[in-house]
Amino acid sequence: MEFTLRQTRLKENLAAVRERIGRAAASSGRTMDDVQLIAVTKYVDAAISRDLVIAGCTDLGESRPQQLWFKADELEGVDCQWHMIGHLQRNKVERTIRLTSLVHSVDSERLIAMINTQAERLGTLVDVLLEVNTSGEVEKHGLTADEVMPFLACSDQWPHVRVRGLMTMAARGAVGSAARSCFAELRQLRDRLAGKCPANVSLQELSMGMSGDFEEAILEGATLVRIGSALFEGVE
Ligand SMILES: *Cc1c(COP(=O)(O)O)cnc(C)c1O
Repeated sequence: MEFTLRQTRLKENLAAVRERIGRAAASSGRTMDDVQLIAVTKYVDAAISRDLVIAGCTDLGESRPQQLWFKADELEGVDCQWHMIGHLQRNKVERTIRLTSLVHSVDSERLIAMINTQAERLGTLVDVLLEVNTSGEVEKHGLTADEVMPFLACSDQWPHVRVRGLMTMAARGAVGSAARSCFAELRQLRDRLAGKCPANVSLQELSMGMSGDFEEAILEGATLVRIGSALFEGVE
């Protein structure tokens, strides 16, 4: 198989990101297989997204439902999985859950109830993460830390949804230790709640870390990192 210049560049970027993931995982006593890379394709078109899959990255994420629908359609037949990582409105649930393997961004009971309703109708079980606002920024979506346990206590109302963990974003502009403290807060919340969860809930997964802060996130226990710009540097 011959690779285009763009595919070669994508492969190099992917290798560089994977190496950094591996190093951070090793520093946290894990291996790179313990940390799943989700490539966030929101800055690039469907053709580049497809080339990234060809370069070897099969988990893709979008923050806007319409973009996810569009690209999933364009990449029909390509062996990849989609992740919904941004705010999801209830009227977009049905179409979105048909296309995704994991919804990272459940932030209200109304949303999870709608996911449950649509999952039941489609005869599927939908895996989700609960988004937690660890930075306290008002413009960010997500439950507060205090809201998570009462939320989980209702989980038997949503038998067609499986909570697998938590997701967060660092404060805007936060780097280094400031970002890391948001990630530490999510991990500590998980550790506090893990033993008290209903049986149908798991808090195994922690989705945290983007291009500017994924190493800090991995050091704090991220199992999923959502990386966009670092994968597409120099790609056009
Ligand atoms: C855009 C986005 C990312 C990736 O951002 P980069 O800094 O480009 O890696 C990750 N998570 C969410 C929720 C996003 O919206």
